[in-house]
Amino acid sequence: KGIVAIVGRPNVGKSSLFNRIIREKKSIVEDIPGVTRDRIYGNAEWLTRQFIIIDTGGITLEDQPFAKEIKIQAEIAMTEADVIVFLLNHQDGLTDEDKVIARILYKTKKPVIVAVNKYDKKGLSTDAYEYMSIGLGEPIMISSTHGIGVGDLLDKMIAEMPKIEDEIKDDRTRMAIIGKPNVGKSSLVNSLVGEERMIVSEIAGTTLDAVDSNLQVNGKKYTLIDTAGIRRKSKVFETIEKYSYLRSLTTINSADIVLLMIDSSVKITDQDTNIGGLAYEERKPIIIIANKWDLVKDKEKQILKKEDEIRAYFKYLQYAKIIFVSAHDKTRIGKIFEAVEDVKEALNRKIKTSVFNEVLNRAQLINPAPNHNGGRLKIYYGSQVEAYLPTFVMFVNNPSYVHFSYKRFLENQIRLQFGFDGVPITLLFRERK
Ligand code: GDP
Repeated sequence: KGIVAIVGRPNVGKSSLFNRIIREKKSIVEDIPGVTRDRIYGNAEWLTRQFIIIDTGGITLEDQPFAKEIKIQAEIAMTEADVIVFLLNHQDGLTDEDKVIARILYKTKKPVIVAVNKYDKKGLSTDAYEYMSIGLGEPIMISSTHGIGVGDLLDKMIAEMPKIEDEIKDDRTRMAIIGKPNVGKSSLVNSLVGEERMIVSEIAGTTLDAVDSNLQVNGKKYTLIDTAGIRRKSKVFETIEKYSYLRSLTTINSADIVLLMIDSSVKITDQDTNIGGLAYEERKPIIIIANKWDLVKDKEKQILKKEDEIRAYFKYLQYAKIIFVSAHDKTRIGKIFEAVEDVKEALNRKIKTSVFNEVLNRAQLINPAPNHNGGRLKIYYGSQVEAYLPTFVMFVNNPSYVHFSYKRFLENQIRLQFGFDGVPITLLFRERK
């Protein structure tokens, strides 16, 4: 998915534009943690192209002067996004602050689209010339509250996004290591790729470039995404919780498999589960890495307790595998790659239709669907369909009779029979006419 970031000084209308563009998915699942509230990113779609949109104005820093804050927002946009929308406000005209932001944006090689908001007049396109003086191209005049020009802006965003065919498709497995600070992400990266690799981006001024690391294990090729971001210990950024979520989100977005790291020697916190929630929402295969296992005494006895604890906290991630490692002692690290290979195998698993239907029939026998929405669900038959994630279509008497708990029961039955550890699976219900 492409990523678009909106930048601009306060009150130009960033969040109203953001809200107009995001397509809020009504979540049918209940236990997802609170990152969805007060969010600064959202999923959007235009002309069938899906993308993530970020409102950098939502990333606020305490006790920072305006210039510093705006600079950081612009840098975040330049790092995380494929396309930047620089928003101005026609009611204020071009201000000195806008020029400051423009000067920061000159540095980027990414496409910048200038949009001028609160433009409610029609046909006065000469107004646009005023804004060309900042040297970032011809602006698009919009009114996000009235919807004027927003379609043109979206067209332009899509046009500037990297083409899907251009995205690298090779035999490497792209993995994102995510987790809150100090769980041991950089230690794991160091164990895997070695300490000696100097990170170019640690040189002052260019702190934000993402650097991926390639490695080969048992003849298989892997890429760790944004290892520089993981190893960097930049004070300002570490403390911005919203930014660290955003960073996790963009890394997750470009990964095939997510390694969610927690510290197994201490209690799980909301920050852990919120980060896990991001990976869940993006529907990625997930492996939970319980690190610092060396610190846990009486391991034999603790392992089951710890697993239960993790399952209880990450309710929505029941399908995730859990692996206990010590990044520090480099023990059990090989298990990670075994798990990754298992997940890849599960992604490619094809279930025979006849076998699948046996399972469906038996599931309905042992636990018939409850009455829901005025009727009782009857599944006639189903099959797995071609998709990146395992996806099953079931033909039923009426899809509105599907209660989410019954859907979950079916998913559990499928997992029980066919595995699919570590990967999200999709169940679709269609009416048989
Ligand atoms: P990050 O913020 O997630 O990248 O965490 P770091 O890799 O910087 O680790 C934070 C602290 O935990 C450091 O002091 C590490 O030495 C320590 N640490 C990391 N992994 C382990 C581990 O497996 N066992 C132990 N005992 N300490 C670890």
